[in-house]
This record gives sequence, C-alpha cells and structure tokens, in this order.
Amino acid sequence: MSADLLIFAYVAVILGALGFLALYYERREQGFLPSPSKDRIFRCESCAFVYTDDEDTDLSRCPHCAKMNEPIEF
Ligand SMILES: [Zn+2]
Repeated sequence: MSADLLIFAYVAVILGALGFLALYYERREQGFLPSPSKDRIFRCESCAFVYTDDEDTDLSRCPHCAKMNEPIEF
C-alpha cells in the first residue's frame, strides 16, 4: 500500500465520519423542533372560532357559522 493511498483513505474516513455526524445532529435537531405546519390559521370574525385550513386557501369557511374568513398573518 502506497503512502498516497493511505493518506487518501485517512482523509476519506475522516470526511465520511464528519458527514455522518453532521447528518446525525441535523436529524436530531429536527426531531426536537416541532414540525412546522404549513396550514394557515383562521379566526372567525363572527363567532371567534379558531381553525386551520390549507396553506393555499385565501378564504376559508368557518366550520361553526359558515362565515368566510381571511387567514391570520404573523
Ligand atoms: Zn364562525
């Protein structure tokens, strides 16, 4: 085995370990954070009921009184 091959193998192992660790910590952090919901939050202007609907919904019907409401923007 030549010295070049040894150095290459050494670097490859270290890079592989670093990549594995980075992936591991990234996945672990994602596991701790609450999964970001893409749903929009709506609050009924008529009965104050708070509900969610799909993110591409601009106007959503209140499930309680059927009034059309706009999403709450944060
Ligand atoms: Zn309502």
